[in-house]
Amino acid sequence: MWLRCGCPSRSVATSLRVLASPLRVLGLRRCNTAAFMPESAGFGGVSGRSGLQEFSVSSSESFWAAVARHRLSWIRPFTAVQDCDLSRGRIRWFEGGKLNVSVNCLDRHVHTCPDRVALIWERDEKGTEVRYTYRELLEMTCRVGNLLRRHGVKKGDCVTIYMPACPLAVASMLACARIGATHNVVFAGFSAEALADRIRDAQSSTVITVNQGVRGGKILELKKTVDTAVQSCPTVQQVFVAMRTGNPVAMTARDIAMEEEMLKEDVVCEPAAMNSEDTLFLLYTSGSTGKPKGLVHTQAGYLLYAAFTHRYVFNYHDGDVFGCMADIGWITGHSYAIYGPLANGGTTVLFESTPIYPDPGRYWDMVERLQINQFYGAPTAIRLLLRFGNEWVNKYDRSSLKTLGSVGEPINTEAWEWYYRVVGEERCPVVDTWWQTETGGICIAPKPSDPDAEIVPGMAMRPFFGIKPVLMDTEGKVISGNDTSGALCLAQPWPGMARTIHNDHQRFIETYCQPYPGYFFTGDGAYRSVEGYYQITGRLDDVINVSGHRIGTAEIEDAVNQCPAVAESAVIGYSHDIKGQGVFAFVVLKKNVDVEEADLSRQLNDIVSEKIAKHACPDFIQFVQRLPKTRSGKIMRRVLRKVVELDLDSLGDLSTLDDPAAVQEIIQGHRELLSK
Ligand code: AMP
Repeated sequence: MWLRCGCPSRSVATSLRVLASPLRVLGLRRCNTAAFMPESAGFGGVSGRSGLQEFSVSSSESFWAAVARHRLSWIRPFTAVQDCDLSRGRIRWFEGGKLNVSVNCLDRHVHTCPDRVALIWERDEKGTEVRYTYRELLEMTCRVGNLLRRHGVKKGDCVTIYMPACPLAVASMLACARIGATHNVVFAGFSAEALADRIRDAQSSTVITVNQGVRGGKILELKKTVDTAVQSCPTVQQVFVAMRTGNPVAMTARDIAMEEEMLKEDVVCEPAAMNSEDTLFLLYTSGSTGKPKGLVHTQAGYLLYAAFTHRYVFNYHDGDVFGCMADIGWITGHSYAIYGPLANGGTTVLFESTPIYPDPGRYWDMVERLQINQFYGAPTAIRLLLRFGNEWVNKYDRSSLKTLGSVGEPINTEAWEWYYRVVGEERCPVVDTWWQTETGGICIAPKPSDPDAEIVPGMAMRPFFGIKPVLMDTEGKVISGNDTSGALCLAQPWPGMARTIHNDHQRFIETYCQPYPGYFFTGDGAYRSVEGYYQITGRLDDVINVSGHRIGTAEIEDAVNQCPAVAESAVIGYSHDIKGQGVFAFVVLKKNVDVEEADLSRQLNDIVSEKIAKHACPDFIQFVQRLPKTRSGKIMRRVLRKVVELDLDSLGDLSTLDDPAAVQEIIQGHRELLSK
């Protein structure tokens, strides 16, 4: 692995409301709006953070223009702030402007503070972290940029990155941005088939990977997975292979030894002048069909929104160490491990390991060792760690912590309170941040807020600047008033939102713009409390959220149905203590199939992990004679969910079922499965 020269490697309860202390409140009340947010200096008459929020929504163009001028470095200034029409799925920000994202993330900080640490790579092997300054990260990025250019990668080409969290992955992403290529990072836990699907859909001719990954002390054969994937990807012409471990791997004529070739490159690489709306990256995510969608994010709006939310939701200040635990393969890793912190000239931690390796104290040991100030993690990890007891936390000094963040799924009250009381010692606000791959950055979070404002456990609460959430009823009408629930939509565009689905704008329109014309539909349901705070209640579509990873039930069904013994299947999510949601598969076998159920279960798990990823494997498989269907043949998942939740009193109206007896059979089979 590319190490810097001579680097030493060691170098929904509402009962509890958290209020700032009265003294702090008085002190902060006096501070003026421009001191809190320098971007707001020209917003005459706007005072307080609530005033800023109102202004950001009612005068969205003035607001975002000021923020964009202040926070980004432009090669050419933009001439129009926005040109958006949500009903047509047309979203454009800062047109006429030119900039380079890598210059914004690196060069401008190299000018002012070249030796500031940009990245701390927290390697899988505890205590072997490596630090990279802004100067070093820029040099590495330039070498990769020149290497890609020398190998024919041009503006607009798509480079697929299949790597663990490591500095070369970051440099590869930034190198794409530097030369105007699009990156497509695929989570390194995805199988060869899932990777191949994404490479083909993105029409990538270049892939970057590592010989092997290391996670939780285990070796992952990433290069071998790429070898298998590219066999079915005729577009791929070259694969760059970096060395994460010392073990050699078989190289083919298509493969290029990355570090060796990088040494031949110059440390200066001319940045491309990119239009604001040129594509920065694709990121695939699951929807309610079997085909993952490649969401498209563009240059200026995405970067601005990632940087701005990073600064204000987490109260990030110069000199802070920001620790986002997400892998680079997810949007959280993109926005808050890389783009947001680097655009702000921050120091960011890249975490390669797992929360329990080598022991359940890993996170807090790291907080002490790296002096992390903002810690951003997932509820599934918090739930897992709280089971190991407080001693793993208390062993380490966490006095550096100032803010705790949560993302990816609802955080239950028990986990929230443990996070707040035990991890944060009741000193640090917990920000439960709601957002999605589609939104590019955080849209609802308790902070920023007025200084004396409360934080309610387990609630994302307040819209961020420029975000206007609305709830819709089943007839598509906006619900007014509080203490009410509905489909969560965002009523006006914001710079960070995805622009389209790669190669399928019609699907973008149908999924996000058509359900509630004129609004962006998030796919989530939400509750608005008496006080007007938002709480996310979960997905409204057939998407489940396993340990914060979004998976379409249709994707899993497609994989299960490929088993020759399977006639059909229905997959649902159910409540799981650690993972948030688990996967439950109901499977109908073909007639005359004579295989042991245990063998079949193993086979099905193998297929799902081969076609998608291990995290998508069913936790339970129930073999049934038939599935409950309507007369028109639609599977009644609602009924299956009730069976799994053991909520048999509210199965609802079964009269529309083609064969109501199917439900009784399933209930009986479910009892037998649980008693095994
Ligand atoms: P992804 O695009 O993979 O990040 O998944 C986004 C989905 O995760 C959202 O649509 C929500 O269903 C869920 N999600 C993310 N953050 C939160 C949160 N703070 N509270 C509740 N659900 C969340």
